[in-house]
Amino acid sequence: MKVVVVGSGGREHALALVLARHAEVVVTPGNPAIPGSVDTPVFDLVADGTVDLVVFGPELPLVAGHADQLRAMGVRVFGPGAEGAKLEGSKAYMKMIATDAGLPTAMWEAFTDASEAKDYLVTLRPPYVIKTDGLAAGRGVLVTDSLAEAELDLEAKLGGTTFGESGRRIVIEEGLVGPEVSVFAICDGTRAVCLPAAQDFKRVGDGDAGPNTGGMGAWSPVVFVPDGFADEVNRTFIEPTLAELTRRGIDFRGVLYAGLMLTADGPKLIEYNVRFGDPDSQVVLLRMTSDLAELLAAAADGDLTAVPAPTFSDDAAVLVVAASEGYPVAPRTGDVIAGLDDAAAVDGVTILAAGVRHDDDGTLVTAGGRVVNVVGRGVDAAHAREVAYEAMAKISWSGLHHRTDIAADG
Ligand code: AMP
Repeated sequence: MKVVVVGSGGREHALALVLARHAEVVVTPGNPAIPGSVDTPVFDLVADGTVDLVVFGPELPLVAGHADQLRAMGVRVFGPGAEGAKLEGSKAYMKMIATDAGLPTAMWEAFTDASEAKDYLVTLRPPYVIKTDGLAAGRGVLVTDSLAEAELDLEAKLGGTTFGESGRRIVIEEGLVGPEVSVFAICDGTRAVCLPAAQDFKRVGDGDAGPNTGGMGAWSPVVFVPDGFADEVNRTFIEPTLAELTRRGIDFRGVLYAGLMLTADGPKLIEYNVRFGDPDSQVVLLRMTSDLAELLAAAADGDLTAVPAPTFSDDAAVLVVAASEGYPVAPRTGDVIAGLDDAAAVDGVTILAAGVRHDDDGTLVTAGGRVVNVVGRGVDAAHAREVAYEAMAKISWSGLHHRTDIAADG
């Protein structure tokens, strides 16, 4: 099978590695450290009819309707069309689907008017949660115990100062409390199979200090998640969601990524994304022992019953992100990267390249905020963590920083 992966970061590197165990893989645009990377756009790659499956990494092309366009050309695609991708593209839409499907989720209202928003806010108890409706690269959510801060934030968002047009509609939610986990559901339109849970670490600093990031680390399995959790998530969240989408005429073939909070009243849905999480999916995908290409192709064909349920090794994976100077506020790029080969030589380690490029003389340099993912594997989280940090110590560039407490509770 020939598979094209669309995207260029650590998630796509992991997808490419795991797919390549059973398929021929091309990544577009990829990056210099992802094998099989090519500059050719996906629409050109499929032109000769030899591509058996296209797998989308990031959400932006999905929201833009690229999966629809490829399907219209007769290409087999793993990734939802633009209508399905609205689950990630609009928080208000996602909450509406969650409500109509009867999912456990935080109470909510959507607003475009600041005084109406403030009237609603004062009826809630802290923490207050203010979300930009549209895509905001993971930075559109404020959670605060301060009513004054919440009011200032909603004024700034609705006034278009913080997020421009995508901020002019907001969602205010009841604040929930509890640990968060991610579950990735492979969906074929009507059925789904949920992969084992993972957890990511969003804040830039140890002890969850400092600003939110795209994710500074992840681990799987998550020790406090009970047995059977993935199946429970499927029954409680994913199947009702697919039924609601089907009722609306949406044939969702791709990943539904459920961000769940384990509250005292049980798991509640915080968000849906329509693609694999980055970096949380990496730790799940690398543990897969069955054929990922076959699984995603079956989902793309609309028939998950055609393939066996996926299987996973019973070891643990811990991922630590190495970030560039200034990330997440103002990441500096162009710093020379050293030590990747030494790090990769550590037993049990996989290095995934996220934000890297070659400079003019072919030297590998930093090209983004999150530069490299170091993944350690071991018999348990403590061992996997040790292995990951041993490898991390071999990597360097000017301004490199990483958390030192990923999976420390494992
Ligand atoms: P989202 O982009 O919707 O996933 O929100 C980003 C982060 O904000 C989540 O990972 C949570 O940590 C936090 N968050 C979102 N919604 C809520 C909520 N209703 N209650 C408490 N925290 C929340």
